[in-house]
This record gives sequence, C-alpha cells and structure tokens, in this order.
Amino acid sequence: MADVHSKEARSYNMSRIRSKDTKPEMLVRRFLHKNGFRYRLHVKDLPGKPDIVLPKYKTVIFIHGCFWHGHEGCKYYVVPKTRTDWWLHKIGTNIANDINAETALKNAGWKVIKIWECLLKKKEIEYTLNNLKSLIPE
Ligand SMILES: [Zn+2]
Repeated sequence: MADVHSKEARSYNMSRIRSKDTKPEMLVRRFLHKNGFRYRLHVKDLPGKPDIVLPKYKTVIFIHGCFWHGHEGCKYYVVPKTRTDWWLHKIGTNIANDINAETALKNAGWKVIKIWECLLKKKEIEYTLNNLKSLIPE
C-alpha cells in the first residue's frame, strides 16, 4: 500500500495517535491481549467514553490519571498552589463526571473497573494486572 501522507501530515497523525494511546493504557491493553481478551477502545456511545470495553464480558475499564481524576491520598494528586480554586473546580468536575458515567454504566448492566495510573507503575503493575484478571467476570 502506498503511503500518500506527506511527512508533515504523518507526524501530525502520529502525535494525535500518541496522545490517545497513553502508555499506562497500552500496558493494560497489551496484558489483556496476551491473556486472550478482545476489546474495543474509546467507545464514544457509552457514558464516559470508557478507555477499554470488553463487550463479551459486559465490562468497561477506565484508566484514570491520578492528578486529573483526583486520586484521594495519592502522591501524584497534588493540587497546584497557584490557581488552586480553579484546579479544584476542574478536577472536581472530572470526578463528578466519572461518578455519573459509572452510575449510568452500572444501571445499564456494565461492570465498571477503574485503574489508577499509579497502580501501573513498575512496583505495582504485576499485582494490578493479575488483580484485573480476577475482576473481569467469567
Ligand atoms: Zn494514584
């Protein structure tokens, strides 16, 4: 297949792809794939646009950045000292949206799994991913 994109267009596409396929999400996807789970990504017609959807298991997975989603008690959730109110409002809105999406999904019969990014760091990832497997219904 011929590559019709100019170099500029291609690097633009690449940067767009990169921003969507963040590294923590890739780690989870790779694990799922290796374990034989088939998934869809960023399903727009589901509440909260879940990062990973496992239709066969009626399960969705959100991978939450600790800062943007306000991971309580997490060392990566530090509210900036400047424009503190603005940040608190911003993050508070994200949290409210997360709760709404989760409720709507559960009401529609979906199992909702949330993974915090800090639990995908080197020291935690093995436990997190094994635990994830046990959370996905048979
Ligand atoms: Zn965290």
